[in-house]
Amino acid sequence: MSELGEFEIIERFFSRSRRDRDVLVGVGDDAAIVEAAGPLAIAVDMLVEGTHFPHALPAAAIGHRALAVNLSDLAAVAAKPRWATLAISLPGVDEDWLEGFAAGFYSLAERFGVSLVGGDTTRGPLTVTVQLIGEAPRAAPLRSGGRPGDLVFVSGTLGDAAAGLECFVAAASRPAPTASDGREAPAEGGPETEPAAVDEAHLIARFAYPEPRVALGAALAGIARAAIDVSDGLAADLGHICERSGCGARVDLAALPLSRALRASHAAAAARELALHGGDDYELCFCVAPADRERALAAAAAAGTPITVIGALTAERAIVGTVDGEARALEPRGFRHF
Ligand code: ADP
Ligand code: MG
Repeated sequence: MSELGEFEIIERFFSRSRRDRDVLVGVGDDAAIVEAAGPLAIAVDMLVEGTHFPHALPAAAIGHRALAVNLSDLAAVAAKPRWATLAISLPGVDEDWLEGFAAGFYSLAERFGVSLVGGDTTRGPLTVTVQLIGEAPRAAPLRSGGRPGDLVFVSGTLGDAAAGLECFVAAASRPAPTASDGREAPAEGGPETEPAAVDEAHLIARFAYPEPRVALGAALAGIARAAIDVSDGLAADLGHICERSGCGARVDLAALPLSRALRASHAAAAARELALHGGDDYELCFCVAPADRERALAAAAAAGTPITVIGALTAERAIVGTVDGEARALEPRGFRHF
């Protein structure tokens, strides 16, 4: 523990300024003041240690995730991220931890053109709340915009982060090997462990450092009729679109995009379960009128993000998964914050 006080913490770790003509007042005054040109999208997400991330997660990953989850929310409404505030409660002052956290946060902020303009710093259980403000299009895709017959797409692959969290928790609870074990760490590139270790590292990175689909979200403005970011699991989040749009959905379970790492490390049914109910994917799920299919594919190609059609919205209210010609109702079960 060091003796840094609240203002020294803010000054040392959270006062980096970046060139942004629209920030009239940033960190250091009673309120930030920004110049906005039109409609704003505003999202906030609270990450609580033990509920949203495990205790041992590296500080840089916590900093990255705290901003990434909000970038993902803004991506869903096709907004351009601009300004963030950060409220953080810390059990104590650990300078290395703060250094890592700030590095994770600022590197993502820099990549997406986000300025940290204010926040709050206090002692308490580790909790990180980021609020993100961005420029919104006038016709943003909303959860309520879906219509029966719309194609349902998802970006990227699903289920990796949930599998990665399992791997991370299992690895963190394994006792560290000691010299008296008489075992040596496998040599890098060792033939037996390498493929599984590479898969595991990929899955853990998908949990620890999610890549928000900001470019795809922006490219879908005017094309997607409804959108949501997949944070609690596809079944739960597609369920929100269906509920708000007053329809149901049919999902071709064989079409769910699964990464090579997930398929290599899990049996098909287990991989599918993680894709449907696992959570923490931060992919986009969106609905497109059939006539706009090619426009959606072109927008995704321009954004450099793979997308996959997984089904369609239906007039019947249920969410139904089909595989091998059989249909079953999908529970809208996902990650629960309570
Ligand atoms: P006040 O008491 O007026 O609310 P604070 O003393 O809490 O202000 O904070 C001082 C300044 O530092 C404010 O501009 C606030 O926005 C900023 N700030 C506090 N904590 C953080 C943080 N974690 N990240 C960025 N800015 C912060
Ligand atoms: Mg004040």
